[in-house]
Amino acid sequence: MAKKVDHIGILVSNLEEAIKLYKDCFGAEVDKIETLAERGVKAAILSLGHGANLELLEPLPDSNMAKVLKKRGEGLHHITFEVDNVDKELSHLSERGIELIDKKARPGFEGLVAFIHPKSLRGVLVELCQKG
Ligand code: ZN
Repeated sequence: MAKKVDHIGILVSNLEEAIKLYKDCFGAEVDKIETLAERGVKAAILSLGHGANLELLEPLPDSNMAKVLKKRGEGLHHITFEVDNVDKELSHLSERGIELIDKKARPGFEGLVAFIHPKSLRGVLVELCQKG
């Protein structure tokens, strides 16, 4: 069961410029910036207040995400639901025939995460996250 939408992931070509844009336009505040080498991105979590967050993702050179950016351009990348237990949700989804990208929870930007295949969810890449 999803508790809430934790964040919306947006693929960008330049993190600094994107941060400035979302700050200027919507008053978003930077919470955290980190390079996630295993995911091939430099990421920033921006807070919009009241628990609403954006995750801006700039691909690292020669990463898979760089290929995605080149192919699809900037824009919405994924939506993330916070759950109490990622592994429990994965088995719940798997029992319903939903195709998983991650079969098990793994460490993410904040806590444990897992991705669900967009072809099982009407074209939307969904991330589940479980916070410490
Ligand atoms: Zn995310």
